[in-house]
Amino acid sequence: MSNAEFDLHHLWHPYTSLTRPLPCYQVERADGVYLQLSDGRRLIDGMSSWWACLHGYNVPELNAAVTDQLTKMSHVMFGGLTHDPAINLCRALTEVLPTGLDRFFLADSGSVSVEVALKMAIQYWHGKGTPKTVFAALNKGYHGDTFGAMSVCDPKGGMHSLYNGFLPEHVFIKSPQSRFGGDWNPTDLQPLEALLADRHQELAALVLEPIVQGAGGMCFYHPEFLKGARDLCSQYEVLLIVDEIATGFGRTGKLFACEWAEIAPDIMCIGKALTGGYMTMAATITTQHVAETICNGPAGVLMHGPTFMANPLACAVALASLRLLLSSPWQARIQAIEQQLTRQLAPAANLPAVADIRVLGGIGVIELHQPLAVAKVQQQLVELGVWIRPFGKLLYVMPPYIITPEELSQLTKAMLTICEE
Ligand SMILES: *Cc1c(COP(=O)(O)O)cnc(C)c1O
Repeated sequence: MSNAEFDLHHLWHPYTSLTRPLPCYQVERADGVYLQLSDGRRLIDGMSSWWACLHGYNVPELNAAVTDQLTKMSHVMFGGLTHDPAINLCRALTEVLPTGLDRFFLADSGSVSVEVALKMAIQYWHGKGTPKTVFAALNKGYHGDTFGAMSVCDPKGGMHSLYNGFLPEHVFIKSPQSRFGGDWNPTDLQPLEALLADRHQELAALVLEPIVQGAGGMCFYHPEFLKGARDLCSQYEVLLIVDEIATGFGRTGKLFACEWAEIAPDIMCIGKALTGGYMTMAATITTQHVAETICNGPAGVLMHGPTFMANPLACAVALASLRLLLSSPWQARIQAIEQQLTRQLAPAANLPAVADIRVLGGIGVIELHQPLAVAKVQQQLVELGVWIRPFGKLLYVMPPYIITPEELSQLTKAMLTICEE
């Protein structure tokens, strides 16, 4: 059995069947914005490996951070022990996170950081002496695949019916309709206001992705909604959990998407690009007030502690990635990507297959009227020399920030070619 056959029959890939698997392309190595397949073909990466590889691949500074740390220690338990990689990372993050967010829990993936955020909120209300366990979330939201995280994902997209009877039931409100860059319609906040007025005594927190609803539909909404949601949560004493796992580290043109609305949440999740795409790590960050309330509660502690918590290799590469980002002209790069995407995707508006085009920061989306045939379109894209993963009716890119204008042109050209057919 060849390796490709073994993969086909024995390895699950994300959201796929093992009996009717989709084809996979074998990658041998990755450098800069290029993925090199085992047959020698080189593809320009339009996905940043799902928002993560913002500096591209095989980055000397990040390689050095990992190898330096490797010679000291790759891992030690975080219970009763601590280390500079974790401390230095959290100190550096404190400098750039929205004001007041300076109490850290280092988790092992984005979904786990969302679980921890939900736990923090529940334990916060225990600490206050008024337990609350219901969460409010937005339709079209995506927060991860573990059960707690899934329970606050879009009920349809998150396939809640599949796990009916096991999944906790939360409340969902209509996602904001006012687009980023368009007019603000204050009625967007009405469903949230009505829900909070009605049920704030039961609601532990509102959970949302700031500005960009990612895996739930790649929609960009108006910052006034986020601002209004922050105000309403404060007014009704419901915590605000902001999931910056996809948007963090500059992708939308701000270091964190919260900055578009100049708000700070009570709890924030970061992940994906945190380690520059090198390895899995995420963080749940909260305020002194929330942390103290949790720790003064009946449990006295935050009840979570993964085996690989604060993995030193992940912390070291995350700190190197943050430093590399901050010392790079990332804002100018994102602006240039945004302008080029806007210009080069615009012609797609005239194509009959195309329903909508939207661009924000380093994200370019073409929404079609019909879902794409993944396997076939994927193959066409690979033949065009690009790595873009079609998703439902969406064809979208969020390339590494280091992409050159010529390489980006190849991505947009390939997107237009698919839409023309
Ligand atoms: C990817 C993602 C998650 C889940 O992160 P994992 O590391 O895949 O568990 C959660 N929230 C958002 C907004 C994401 O984009």
